[in-house]
Amino acid sequence: MANKTVKILLIDDDDDDYIMTRDLLSEIEGTRYELQRAMTYDKGLELIDQKSHDVYLVDYRLGERTGLELLREAINNGCRAPIIMLTGQGDKEVDVQAMKAGSSDYLVKGQINAPLLDRSIRYAIERKRSEEDIYRMAYYDILTGLPNRFLFNDRLKQAIALAERYNRLVAVLFLDLDNFKRVNDTFGHHMGDKLLKKVAERINLCMRKGDSLSRQSTDDSVDTVARLGGDEFTIILSEIHHLEDAAKVAQRIFNALSLQFTLDTYELFISASIGIAIYPHDGKDVSSLLKNADAAMYHAKSEGKNNYQYYRQSMNASALERLTLENNLRKALERNEFVLHYQPQVDIRTGEIVGLEALTRWQQADGRIVPPGEFIPIAEETGLILPLSDWILHTACKQCKEWHAAGFPDIAVSVNISGQQFQQKNFAKTVNRVLEDTGIKPGDLFLEITESTIMHNTDMVFTTLYELSRLGLRLIIDDFGTGYSSLSYLKRFPIHAIKIDRSFVKEINTSPDDAAISKAIISMAHSLKLKVVAEGVETKHQLAFLREQACDEIQGFLFSRPLPFEEVLKLLSREKKGSGIVFSILNRIRDMAPRA
Ligand code: C2E
Ligand code: MG
Ligand code: MG
Repeated sequence: MANKTVKILLIDDDDDDYIMTRDLLSEIEGTRYELQRAMTYDKGLELIDQKSHDVYLVDYRLGERTGLELLREAINNGCRAPIIMLTGQGDKEVDVQAMKAGSSDYLVKGQINAPLLDRSIRYAIERKRSEEDIYRMAYYDILTGLPNRFLFNDRLKQAIALAERYNRLVAVLFLDLDNFKRVNDTFGHHMGDKLLKKVAERINLCMRKGDSLSRQSTDDSVDTVARLGGDEFTIILSEIHHLEDAAKVAQRIFNALSLQFTLDTYELFISASIGIAIYPHDGKDVSSLLKNADAAMYHAKSEGKNNYQYYRQSMNASALERLTLENNLRKALERNEFVLHYQPQVDIRTGEIVGLEALTRWQQADGRIVPPGEFIPIAEETGLILPLSDWILHTACKQCKEWHAAGFPDIAVSVNISGQQFQQKNFAKTVNRVLEDTGIKPGDLFLEITESTIMHNTDMVFTTLYELSRLGLRLIIDDFGTGYSSLSYLKRFPIHAIKIDRSFVKEINTSPDDAAISKAIISMAHSLKLKVVAEGVETKHQLAFLREQACDEIQGFLFSRPLPFEEVLKLLSREKKGSGIVFSILNRIRDMAPRA
């Protein structure tokens, strides 16, 4: 502030006060103050409206009226600069009221000296500046300067209230860029951010004149463009006369976005999908309008992107639910809502944890954890499984490296590989790159594939399997026994182990058939030099039976449910110290007679 001239407006009808203030300011060193004066209430208000001062000094007594009234009126009119109240010795209580009404400070005339005045002004300006920063951070998106979700909700609530009163229509547009992730992946986030900024500017130019993006007033018919996050933008058209008006704006936005974007030396094109919901037809409150505009946007995506769709009630409930799930799944990836949990695999002879199977969970924003059975099939149908699988493989290897670094260098990680992922042309190369990127050895990564993957498109599968095994990776056939492969068929492939499906293990002590099948699988697998893992082991009796049959490894709730990353470290430490559950269970069943 030292180099800048601070402009002060004194609103005071008393000449002595003016002279005193002027003299005090001239005594201050280090800051240059420029003082202007308004003699009356009305002149003061008029000058405040021009917003050309850094701070206002307002006398409490202004003829017929008070400085307090002026303070309230100025703030109401949108004044955001600090106002300091000057009170007389006898104006008790005024100080509290002034502070309550929003004044930055108060000074008692007759008790003011130059340093006090200087400090009060500088603090008031500084405090106001931090208040403004906080306001901006709370209600505006830092990247684009657009209103954020909170301000958007607020504005929509206001628009709805006004529309209700005056019987008007309000349109909510939900816009999502098409294939934005590709921009990020290809050019990096930095470039993605630049694009978002430019997109924000272009959308904003499509709005009605005068509807500025960072407007902070509660003006009657303001159209708001907001950024909810990622590549999602929402728009409120606060006063439309016909339903088609919303489509016209959507079309204007398409036209604006269709022009090439130049970012540094790159030239790129982007399109968007827009969903439209109208108050009061498609919802009467903020959340239903937003939800329905979002559903309509997703409908636009499924119609081939780069188009707009109005929300239709006829989108039947189940299709909508499915669309919403798909939509959310797509966003989940961008929002990093997936986490890996790990289930230990225990060597039945030594009781050591030899590996951890990575099992993916979807942790939704509302805290609900969706199990993979609910989203993996949809991810497979929509192709989302590929980017998701990349993330899973990468994360599992990275976290495996962290266990190694934490003092457990022999732990392997097991990752489930979807059919589509496995059938990708360069799958083995992709895996190799992940190993290099994360720095784990090939022998530390197990890949679990299902029988159906192996039965599919045999030539290609064959090649990939050999490439992987040459790299030194171990392959496990998951859920063995549920498909159509036979062990003699599997003999042709470089496979390390099979995992007996949970459904056999479940009845192993009660169903003679399941017991016989499990026994046969174990002994045949051993004769083919394959290891056998049993999954879904829940009881000590199941464990005793499997031990008797010389099954090699065990996985199941008996030892541990799949655990979050941090819990795994604790579990590994406890087992190492010999105070863990695995250790104690294996000790206890040692003398137990197997029950088949
Ligand atoms: P899976 O690979 O056969 O995984 C074992 C499933 O059995 C896991 O279910 C695990 O929580 C559950 N389980 C383990 N021990 C017991 C037990 O003692 N009793 C019972 N009742 N269940 C047990 P989850 O995590 O729900 O996963 C289900 C399936 O989803 C997995 O079966 C796998 O096929 C698939 N999946 C999970 N994560 C991924 C992934 O990252 N990628 C792919 N492609 N598929 C995944
Ligand atoms: Mg598995
Ligand atoms: Mg399995």
